[in-house]
Amino acid sequence: MLSLEPVKEKYGDYLCRQCLNKEYNVNLVPRDCNHFFFGVCRCCNENRRLITSLTATGKLKMLVK
Ligand SMILES: [Zn+2]
Repeated sequence: MLSLEPVKEKYGDYLCRQCLNKEYNVNLVPRDCNHFFFGVCRCCNENRRLITSLTATGKLKMLVK
């Protein structure tokens, strides 16, 4: 499972899946996300699920672009 600490450091908080996809040019689907909490995304200002960690598949998608 991949920590998204770099994302948090860059944006001051975790981002929603849509913004992660946009920022990292990946295609994460809900099952790629291991943990999340509901909150306002710093990137799109929408109340969404903010992703805090990814599954192995999600991690691979982030690494292999
Ligand atoms: Zn967002």
